[in-house]
Amino acid sequence: MQIKLNDVHFRYKKNAPAVIKDIFLTIEPGTINALLGLNGSGKSTLIKLLAGLLKPTEGTIEYDEYDLKDISIHQRSKIFAYVAQNNIFNEDFLVKDYLAFSFVNSLKFYQTPDKAKKVIIKKYAKDFKIEKLMDKKLSETSGGERQIISIVAAMLQDTPIIILDEPTSALDLLNQYIVLSALKKISAEGKTIIISTHNPNHCLYLKSNVILLNKGSILKTGKSDEIVKKDILEDIYGKNIKYSDELEYKEISF
Ligand code: ADP
Repeated sequence: MQIKLNDVHFRYKKNAPAVIKDIFLTIEPGTINALLGLNGSGKSTLIKLLAGLLKPTEGTIEYDEYDLKDISIHQRSKIFAYVAQNNIFNEDFLVKDYLAFSFVNSLKFYQTPDKAKKVIIKKYAKDFKIEKLMDKKLSETSGGERQIISIVAAMLQDTPIIILDEPTSALDLLNQYIVLSALKKISAEGKTIIISTHNPNHCLYLKSNVILLNKGSILKTGKSDEIVKKDILEDIYGKNIKYSDELEYKEISF
């Protein structure tokens, strides 16, 4: 499914300045796409527009030939999964029950997940190293654990598109690796990934398309190895940034 943004503008309040401006963008199926930019550059706002939580003030967002505003909530849940920065509101649920809700879009009214679905949940719990959390309440998990749980929930939703707002912001190096390598794997299997990040290295690792945002507009788009370059990123992050071989110290990454 192709996503097309046609001259999208967005302002939070009438007469307030636009925080998203002049966005023309096409996202092809099966690609990984990273929105990169400074804090406040509009990444989260654009992610929320793509997920239909905000509506463009001007312009349109189309999923194939359908305008997002005409796609029902139920249909949307089959097209894309959305991982917000703080996704989990009801903390009384057990982790395993919360994950089971991911199947709601493929169940009939009053149907509960069958054995096969529970096996899938177990497999994901193992792959994402959250098995020991399954019988805990969400309120008993850490911020990073909750971030992983919400990403697993989105993957279980099994939609062709996954939209994630800074999915690694609370994660340690191991969990960053687990999440980003899983995104790479499901993209290789045909899913479309859209993430926001302020870590240019993550774009390089993912070999993603990069949409470089500055003050709500697209400054540049291209493959990560074309965009994540000192001379381009200096304009955004300032003259102090360096490429790894210029650093005075070794760096640990994955
Ligand atoms: P990023 O995700 O790149 O940090 P955001 O999309 O969160 O950027 O913010 C873009 C701009 O919109 C910022 O100037 C921010 O202050 C403003 N903004 C974000 N959320 C709101 C809101 N709910 N109401 C008004 N302004 C907002």
